[in-house]
Amino acid sequence: MDHVSPIDLRSDTVTRPTEAMRSAMIAAEVGDDVWGDDPTVQRLEAQTAELLGKEAGMFVPSGTQSNLCALMAHCARGDEYIVGQHAHTYRYEAGGAAVLGSIQPQPIELAPDGTLPLDIAASKIKPDDPHFAQTRLLAIENTHDGKALPLDYLATLRPFVDEHGLALHLDGARLWNAAVAHDLSEAELAAPFDSVSVCLSKGLGAPVGSVLVGSAELMTAARRCRKILGGAMRQSGMLAAAGLHALDHHRNELARDHELAAALGEGLASVDGVDVDFVATNMVFVDFSGLEDANSRFAAAGMLVPDCSGYSRFVTHRDLPEDTVDRVVGALVN
Ligand SMILES: *Cc1c(COP(=O)(O)O)cnc(C)c1O
Repeated sequence: MDHVSPIDLRSDTVTRPTEAMRSAMIAAEVGDDVWGDDPTVQRLEAQTAELLGKEAGMFVPSGTQSNLCALMAHCARGDEYIVGQHAHTYRYEAGGAAVLGSIQPQPIELAPDGTLPLDIAASKIKPDDPHFAQTRLLAIENTHDGKALPLDYLATLRPFVDEHGLALHLDGARLWNAAVAHDLSEAELAAPFDSVSVCLSKGLGAPVGSVLVGSAELMTAARRCRKILGGAMRQSGMLAAAGLHALDHHRNELARDHELAAALGEGLASVDGVDVDFVATNMVFVDFSGLEDANSRFAAAGMLVPDCSGYSRFVTHRDLPEDTVDRVVGALVN
């Protein structure tokens, strides 16, 4: 079922299950996971928890739900969490923490390297006084805009939250990419955090799914939240099998996405009127303002891209063909 490989640079979420992944899904041993009967879901949860160096895991349909389960497990109604102004959890999850969790966000402008400045975070922590929501949690995102957070910054997080009595959550939707960028294990990058959410459905190429990991006690609380949010599923081993296949066969191929992003950044920089701002892991941030007809050129070439009338983001992934850079540059210069 091979055809001319389409070029879709909108996101790494567009990756589709391979034939081998589909076979693994069909062959999956399943049971009713709400009854605790699905061995494939349990295997995925255990394997992900082990990869991330945590005690237990919980399979969820989406990264959005994974983050919300974590926030609700850490925070009660009327509590507050500190989060980046442009963090996915705050900005791109429809305000779920407030809408469904009754958790007040305290957003903070992120530094250019994607870190949340801890001196500013400290100044926003509320004193124990009935006027204020109770600050309970700090939420960090890695990678943010493709940027793998610096290791010396990660090392400051645990002492900070311990000093202030906060819990620490990581939205690690693309933690896999940060691990590749630093050439470290995911467990090393996850070590400071009480909970970590990872996506299987982006660069890893599974059709659906995220896993939340943390202590067994925290996962028990998170399971109750997942039930409230409608994310407890039945024979979900068919979906978990895709995740297991992705961990076993796709995780070790992510470096190729980063190489492709670097090459794409170089290729685009060679085009007159195109200004490449930066390349980070599998993302290329690029300004097309100097090139009037980028959108129509990409459309004419049959390529799927985000809006290229101004500042834009291209994301590389495993479904892009080897000749992607030549074809993208060709669409702009021919
Ligand atoms: C994609 C993403 C999510 C949410 O994942 P969905 O599965 O799309 O809900 C959360 N955080 C970050 C940083 C993401 O990139």
